[in-house]
Amino acid sequence: MNIIVCLKQVPGTTQVKIDSQTNTLVREGIKNIVNPFDTYALEEGVRIKERYGGKVTTISMGPSQAEEVLREAIGAGADEAILLSDSAFAGADTLATSYTLARAISKIREYDLVICGRQTIDGDTGQVGPELAEMLEIPFVAYVSQIEEIDDGHMRIQRMVEDGHEVVETPLPAVITVVKEINVPRLPSLRGLAKAKSAVIPVWDAQELGVDENMVGLSGSATRVIKVFFPQRVHHGEILQGNLESQAESLVGKLRDARLV
Ligand SMILES: Cc1cc2nc3c(=O)[nH]c(=O)nc-3n(C[C@H](O)[C@H](O)[C@H](O)COP(=O)(O)OP(=O)(O)OC[C@H]3O[C@@H](n4cnc5c(N)ncnc54)[C@H](O)[C@@H]3O)c2cc1C
Repeated sequence: MNIIVCLKQVPGTTQVKIDSQTNTLVREGIKNIVNPFDTYALEEGVRIKERYGGKVTTISMGPSQAEEVLREAIGAGADEAILLSDSAFAGADTLATSYTLARAISKIREYDLVICGRQTIDGDTGQVGPELAEMLEIPFVAYVSQIEEIDDGHMRIQRMVEDGHEVVETPLPAVITVVKEINVPRLPSLRGLAKAKSAVIPVWDAQELGVDENMVGLSGSATRVIKVFFPQRVHHGEILQGNLESQAESLVGKLRDARLV
């Protein structure tokens, strides 16, 4: 099994601040981490390799510091890692991101399974997995919670749906996105850490990928972020005075006035 795992480096906080002038994330002083859902994708890739043999290759599109998440992935069991990095890739929306990842996966050529997290904790769209499958013209299964069996070019898996689980069979190669219920990611081993430290991580740029520069980064993006803002919270609180009885009377009156009772 040749497995490709897509990993994204994200800010290690859900309390993101937005620069109101540029409409971009304020990244200063924020530690970057592997997108948490992608750690489950990596763990599942490594487990499949341990069960059926093969190789796990991780890829990430991002600035040069995204190499950190790829080294961490090698520490946690990945065999190879490739960084997709070029100033032309900056400002990519999901379409341009998926195009760039798909070109890299096509360049790797021999693969049976592509695993992504269900979504990121910054962009949060959950669109990259399905878009990748569309671009690679292979099947896609979302919210995968268990790999039951892989046999003879087919995979039987369970996926989470709103009120239970579905069992799905798909031919390979395929793209799946995984939920956190699928496994418990392992910690890096000492051997893994040593391997990660000395690993050579190739960087593929636009030229190396042979991409059409009008389809990557900001120029290849079908969407534009016009404005990013937090909703204003307006609190109209009122403390009722008097004894309990008069407070209750006043409350009922206010609810009636508002036609809520
Ligand atoms: C409102 C908004 C504003 C944004 N502003 C900016 C901006 O100003 N500048 C900017 O550069 N970007 C910006 N982005 C981010 C950019 O559009 C996304 O990071 C990118 O397109 C991926 O989408 P996502 O994070 O929603 O991934 P999802 O679709 O949620 O990711 C699903 C899975 O796909 C894989 N994946 C996703 N991205 C990558 C990647 N880069 N490398 C490897 N695997 C990946 C992972 O396995 C991940 O778990 C913004 C996004 C939004 C929604």
